Amino acid sequence: MHRLRMSQQERAARSRLARLVMNRALIRATVNVRRVTCGKPGCRCAQGDRHEALYLVCSVKGKKRQLFMPSAMEHEVRQWVANYHAALELLEEISEHAWRRLKQRKEKGDS
Ligand SMILES: [Zn+2]
Repeated sequence: MHRLRMSQQERAARSRLARLVMNRALIRATVNVRRVTCGKPGCRCAQGDRHEALYLVCSVKGKKRQLFMPSAMEHEVRQWVANYHAALELLEEISEHAWRRLKQRKEKGDS
């Protein structure tokens, strides 16, 4: 197996990704805020002042699923989603380094 000749930037991206995955919750989903009516007669929402309801939406194998979230969890849930995107960006960066490394190796005739 070839020794990995990683640049400083690649090492940094890899350890940021490892720390993120090890220490933080992450989730592939979209936060969706909907304006809903609760159905109680006389509630303000019946007059058009609807409640905000928070849903976490995620499709798996083409099937959409959703989870109602209490608003107290909004900040946390948004953080989990943001962590997922941060991890994806780091993976993308690592993949980009691998691309360059393969290209260099090929050009040097070092297979
Ligand atoms: Zn209501």
